[in-house]
Formats: sequence, C-alpha cells, structure tokens
Amino acid sequence: MIAEVIVEVSSSNVDKIFDYLVPPFLTIEKGSRVLVPFGPRKIIGYVLDIKEKSRLSPNKLKAILEVKPQGKILPEMLKLFNFMVKKYNIKNVDALRLFVSNEVRKEAAKEKFVSVCYLCEEKLGEYNKKMTDKALAVVGLLKTKPQPKPELTKTFGASTVNTLEKHGIILTKQQRVIRTPITMHIEKKSVSLNPDQQNAVKNISQAQNKTFVLFGVTGSGKTEVYMNVIENVLSQNKTAILLVPEISLTPQVFSNLKNRFGDLVAVLHSGLSAGERFDEWSRIENGEASVVVGARSAIFAPIKNLGVIIIDEEHENSYNSETNPRYKTKDIALFRANFNNCPLVLGSATPSVETFEKTLNGEYALLRLPHRVHQTAMPSVQIVDMTTEIALGNDSMFSRKLVTELANCFHNSKQALLFLNRRGYSSFMRCCECGYVAKCTDCDAPLVYHKEDGVLKCHFCGKKFRALTACPNCKSPHIRLGAVGTQQVVEEIKKLFPTIPVFRMDNDTTKNKNGHQKILQQFAGVKPAVLVGTQMIAKGHDFSDIEVVGIIDADQSLYQSDYKSSEKTFEVITQVAGRAGRKTGGGKVIIQTYSPRHFVYKYVANYDYEGFFDKEVNIRETTNYPPFATIVRVLISHENENTAMQTTLKIFNDLKPLKTQNPDDVYFLNAMKSPHTRLKNKFRFQVLLRFTSEKSCDIIEKIYEVVNKFKNDKCLIFVEINPSNLS
Ligand code: ADP
Ligand code: ZN
Ligand code: ZN
Repeated sequence: MIAEVIVEVSSSNVDKIFDYLVPPFLTIEKGSRVLVPFGPRKIIGYVLDIKEKSRLSPNKLKAILEVKPQGKILPEMLKLFNFMVKKYNIKNVDALRLFVSNEVRKEAAKEKFVSVCYLCEEKLGEYNKKMTDKALAVVGLLKTKPQPKPELTKTFGASTVNTLEKHGIILTKQQRVIRTPITMHIEKKSVSLNPDQQNAVKNISQAQNKTFVLFGVTGSGKTEVYMNVIENVLSQNKTAILLVPEISLTPQVFSNLKNRFGDLVAVLHSGLSAGERFDEWSRIENGEASVVVGARSAIFAPIKNLGVIIIDEEHENSYNSETNPRYKTKDIALFRANFNNCPLVLGSATPSVETFEKTLNGEYALLRLPHRVHQTAMPSVQIVDMTTEIALGNDSMFSRKLVTELANCFHNSKQALLFLNRRGYSSFMRCCECGYVAKCTDCDAPLVYHKEDGVLKCHFCGKKFRALTACPNCKSPHIRLGAVGTQQVVEEIKKLFPTIPVFRMDNDTTKNKNGHQKILQQFAGVKPAVLVGTQMIAKGHDFSDIEVVGIIDADQSLYQSDYKSSEKTFEVITQVAGRAGRKTGGGKVIIQTYSPRHFVYKYVANYDYEGFFDKEVNIRETTNYPPFATIVRVLISHENENTAMQTTLKIFNDLKPLKTQNPDDVYFLNAMKSPHTRLKNKFRFQVLLRFTSEKSCDIIEKIYEVVNKFKNDKCLIFVEINPSNLS
C-alpha cells in the first residue's frame, strides 16, 4: 500500500504530494497524521489518499514511521481542503494546518494527568490499630470519595500518604484531568420567545441545507433564537457551531451558553491557555463536546454531524482572514453546511450588502426581528454640520450641541460615550470651511495623505497629487487632516469638564489580557463619567446607563477610499448609536460631520437599513463594484524593493492579455505600490483588477495560472478576491 502525503514544510518547492510506503504494522487511513522520513529529517505529514501503486519504483520509496494519535483529519475536512486549495490558490500545507490545533501541531501542550488515590477497604482490617490520627483522617476522607494525591499530600503530609500507599491501603491511579476555561456565574433566565423569535426558530429548525439571514435590530433577541435552535439540534443528536467576533467573545457570552448546555459546550478563542485549548480541541475530537463556540478559526473545529452553523454579527470584517492563509469564513461555513445538509444562519442588525443582496434573489431566506425585546424606543439621532460650526467661529472638535448635551448628561449623573471612527493609518485631507475633500481625478475616490512622502495618493490607481495648502474650491487655507486621536479627545474633554472622570478604550489601552473587560468594569460603576474610544466600544457591549453618544468625526470611515466605506460607516454608526438608552429607552446620539448631506447619514438617523441598502446597491451596480463586479488584488512582497517590483511588472505584463482579450469584462487592470508600501520589513506591490462577476470564475482561474508561474520566485505572492481591506 502507498500513502499520498503532504509534509509539514512551508516552502513552496515541497508543497506537493509525496508517495510513502505503508508498513504492514501500521493502520493508516485517509487523514492520518503521520511521521515520515524527509531527507535527513523526520517530519510530520498528512495522508491525503491511499493507493495500490506508486509511479516510483519501490526501492525509491521510504516508509511511514509512525501514526500520531491526535490531529487526524476528518473526511469532511479533506473535502474542504480540496475546496480551499482550489478556491483560494493557497498552499496545501497552509490549508491542512487550519484543521489541527496549534497545540497539537507544535506539541505545545499535552494531556494533563493527576494521581488519584482510592481506598482499598480490604486492607484496612490488618493495619487499623497502627494508624496515626492523620492516617485515620485520610482514610475517612477517602471513604467519601477518591482524592487527587497532590491535595492529600498537601493537607496530610507526604509521609502519611506514602505509608498508607506502601501498605496497600491507598491505591493510586493516573487519571486524565480536563482544563476548562473559567466561566462566570450567570442567573438562569427562562424567557418565552416572542412570535418573531418563534417564527425564526421554527423556520431554521425545520430546514435542511438552507442559508438564513436573521436580520434583527440591536436588542431584538437574536442570541435567544440561536440558543433555541441549538437546543433543537442537540435533541436530534446533532452538533452546532456558533461563531462570534473575537472582540465580543467575552466571558459573558460563553458563560451564557455553558449555563444552558453545560459540558457539551467547547470554547475556542485567543484568550485560552495552551492547555485549555488542547483539552477543548480533544473534547471536540472525541465527541464529548457537541457545541463549539468561538471566533473565526472555530469554523475548522473537527466536529462531526453538524445540525446548524451560526455566524453572529455576520457583517464583521474579522471573519475574513487577511493574512496567510487568506479565506472567508462564510465560504467555509457554506461548504460545511452543504456537506452536512444543515442550515447556516447569518445574524446581524446591519447585514453586509453582499449578504442582504442574496435575500432579494432568493438565494438566502430572510427572517426578521424588527422590534427590540423590551419595546424600548431607539435613541434619537441628530446630525450636526461641522462646517457651520467653523463658520460661526467654533473650531474645537466638539459642536455646541454636543457640549450642551454632555453638560446635561453629566448634570443628571448619567454616562456618555464619545466615539472616534478611526480606521487605517493615514488620513484624507479636507477643507474645514466648505467640507471639500481632495479626490482622485481618475477614480473619484478620496485621496489619502501619506505623511512619509508628504503627498496625496489614490488607493485605487496609485496616482499621486500634491498635498493641499489651500482649498481649490473656496480658497480657504483652513485645511486639516481628517484624523483626530482618542488621546486628543480625552485632553479636550478634560479641559471642558475638569471634574468628570474620563475613561479611554482603544488599541493602546487594551493591550493586556482582558484589557477590554477591565476598562468596561471600571467604567460601569462610575456616574457621571465618559468613555472615549474607537470601534471597540461599538461592539455588543450591554451598557445600561448611557444617555448620550457623541460621534466625533463620523466621516473618517466615509473617506477611506474603499468601495465599502459607506457600508462600513452605516454599520459602525448604527452599532454605536445602539449603545444609548438600552435600559430605559430614549437616549441621544449626536453625529458630527462635515458632509451632512451624504446619504449615509439620512438613513442612519432613521434607522433605515433597507433604505440605505437600496441606495448603496444601486450605486454599486452603476459603478461596477461588488457584488456586481469582482475585485482581485495580487499582492507581491519582498525585502528587496527592486525584486518585488520586477516580479510585479512580470505578473502585470502576463495579465495584460486578459484585458485586451476581454475588453468588456475587465474594467480595470493596473500595477502599483501598495498603500502600505512597507510592512514587516518587506516592500509591497500590487496588481489590481476589477471585472464583471459573471465571468469571474474563468478570469480568476486565469489569474491563478499566471500567478502560479511565479510561485517559486523569491517573492511572497497572494491573491485576494474582493478584499475587505486594500491597505
Ligand atoms: P441581540 O443579540 O439581538 O442584540 P439579545 O439576544 O442579547 O439581543 O437579547 C437582549 C436581551 O433581551 C437579553 O438580555 C435577553 O436575555 C433578553 N431577551 C431576549 N429574548 C427575550 C424574550 N423573548 N423575553 C424576554 N427577554 C428576552
Ligand atoms: Zn473649501
Ligand atoms: Zn485614482
């Protein structure tokens, strides 16, 4: 017998199938994780297939050395592997690695055992008289139940325990212990579902391979729907995966699930210790856990017999892997749901345009939860025109309206939230007087200021422009960069309200483990108080006393020169606005903008997702952007700038015929430096293409063909399809 093996080596040169002999004493199956000789070394490999004969002569073949007990790849995952390698053009080994936990792969953890002491009552009679008080106490304790040896020796002393063991009164046995992530105690609530929730649960639970979009406003009870669906799935002896964004995977979320489903739940997220993760994976592998809750990578959990996959906050960017191997969690979830013939649920208050579009053509089924569970009113939203503020002589970062509302809020001993929509590393340039924003003459996309070379650049075509010194529109010299930092906001707030406690939450203040939780807990008890933060404060946190939400510079994500900028702005502002008035209803949201007439704000102010969607989808259709077109970026990087550039030019030249042969289908093709020109010591270049979605499969296949010719080049080359981030 011959096994086809992919070896655990990152180099492109060896990323191919090798044949190995299967010795008669080993039981090897498809998916086995094995140890093989490779050159002078012994390394790990994965068996993709078994066959009778190799094309190589037997004396050229080496034999498999060992089969590893852990990390066997399920038949389902082998199919998924084929799908991913083809779809994303990634290396075999990079795909396979996703299916085995890091702890097993890197041997960073192993099973934990502890000696457990049992009482051998038969031996007691003989020694009863000679026993010390301590020994009697040990025996008494063991009569109730067996005890871990380390604890016994700690309490009663090693000599007592060892003497008893020597006389055979104590028998010890090695027993596996499972390290479980800590959960919090949460009151068990029993809720009866409202009719909208019941309808959603019923539809999902009755379905087979179907994708649902659970479109429910914030606080409409989506989580309760998920839990009931999972309960139904478990009652049919099937399993479930629930994905949540990493940032909202707070102890509260999984404690809720643990409360409901007990040890059937396994949790996978980055906050676990190596030992905990090792044990959670093995509980999934051996079928003890039938509900997996986790962040993105939990979609690869080796769980069998899936009855449902749920992706909460499906619009979240973090579901797309933007580093090697690049993949989209939704693609993987669709594949697994299809394989298991089970439903996939995509939940959100602001579904991505791409997802919602599919409910219109019937590809996905739409389920609505249109009301908040507690029937509380949504907060009122007011748009403030910052150009008027400047005209009236107020050039601080706070509008008069916001200052008044904050003063009222603090006077009433309530809390406020100040949000800065900061994304990306550099910023657009804007005239403070008329709101003019510098845009590319070719792309109509806002230009981004690059501090290091002092120029404005278009992130779509790479064209450069001189930085503004005066406004071309109104001649005002009042030009500013769009960006304001959280630190700056904190300083200003302290000047205005010196007695009010200020908390700050951003990348800098949350570096430590549980950093978010700590800041949130500190903030929770203080009134009046204000929390200043970035995107992090927008996500799912259940603040109860927020009266005022101020959005300092709403436009920052609007001018990120990215076709999704309107969508992302709508999404994040809706999420932040949802933090106000959660307990009592009401609350006020103040949105400060230099572009008050931008359509996004009109829809945000009315909580009109569908109105926004109609408008946005129309723009995408007329301008040929996803979901009506496909964008591909080929990213090329190398330590040497010239090497990277030469490879980029070669790829670009080889791709040119695609455009000349399909002039109507390919809208755009160009090569340029990446906006992030240098990252981790590597120079980055890119080739961008945009083409019709209808021909997308054919064109992508051709792009892969071209790119693969350069795979053995020194450069790192990645192809991204509809990347959510073009930096
Ligand atoms: P979402 O995920 O849509 O934001 P949640 O599921 O977190 O909303 O629900 C918000 C709150 O309402 C939670 O505290 C939840 O326990 C509660 N809740 C959900 N459904 C009901 C219901 N049918 N009756 C009473 N309370 C409910
Ligand atoms: Zn101007
Ligand atoms: Zn341009």
